[in-house]
Parts: sequence; structure tokens; C-alpha cells
Amino acid sequence: MAIDKSGKWWVGSQPEDLKEYLEAYSSGGYKTHEFRLAKCKCGRDEFFFFADDDEGCAKRICSFCGEAHFVCDSQEWWTNSNPEEWKCAECGSKSANIGVGFSVYEDGEIRWLYVGERCASCGILGCFAGWKVAYSPSKQLMDQV
Ligand SMILES: [Zn+2]
Ligand SMILES: [Zn+2]
Repeated sequence: MAIDKSGKWWVGSQPEDLKEYLEAYSSGGYKTHEFRLAKCKCGRDEFFFFADDDEGCAKRICSFCGEAHFVCDSQEWWTNSNPEEWKCAECGSKSANIGVGFSVYEDGEIRWLYVGERCASCGILGCFAGWKVAYSPSKQLMDQV
């Protein structure tokens, strides 16, 4: 894993770099303890990405097979949300790798989650949305990235 931090944006050479990025991103707030990379049922890891950071929800659509998936508990909040489509600020690509960082309580339940993305074409790393969880049981959300 290698992140190039020399420019305006952090650039990750591979999808797994999102883990380190989200750890750094969250270091001033609820730190992440767990990380999961999103993978489609078809095995690919590049998605079109829609999210509403105010409402706290995100949806990914596989750029290969078109399968849509709500990230973690997003479906619950989706109806009243106003999602924006993610687009790379640098190269304009709409295809990204997606990973979720979880900040957990001592008992392992989730306090907060961060949805990060890495541009599949130029590698720029970012965090398009994040929201509070703070209910239990919530550990199952780690399998719903
Ligand atoms: Zn797919
Ligand atoms: Zn890009």
C-alpha cells in the first residue's frame, strides 16, 4: 500500500489505501477501528456512488454489472434524502472504489461510520459522507458495506 501525500489531494495506488486514509481523516474526531472495502456480488470493486451527507446515507451501483446496494443502514434514510452523485474533483471520473471506516464503542457496537472513496481512474482519496450510528445491535453493518 502506498499513498502519495505530496499533492493537494492524497492519492492511493490501490483500493486498500482507503483504510489508512480514513484513519487519518477521522483522527480529529471519532477514530476508525474497523475498515471494510466494498465489493459487488460480481466480484468487482468499482462503483458509481451517490450520497447525502446531511441525511447520512449512501448507495453504490456497480459500474460493471449495474447491481445497486445501499451502504450499511442507508436504505432507512434514503427516501427523505437528497443524494448527490460523486464525481472526481480532479479527473471527472464517476467510478470509485468505496470503503467504510467504523468507529466503535468498547463493546464493539458502532458509534460512527465514514464512507470513503478512491477515484478508480486517478486514485484521489476522499470521504464523501459519514454519519452517526449509535444504536445496537449494529455490528451487522460491517457486513453490509
Ligand atoms: Zn457488479
Ligand atoms: Zn480521478
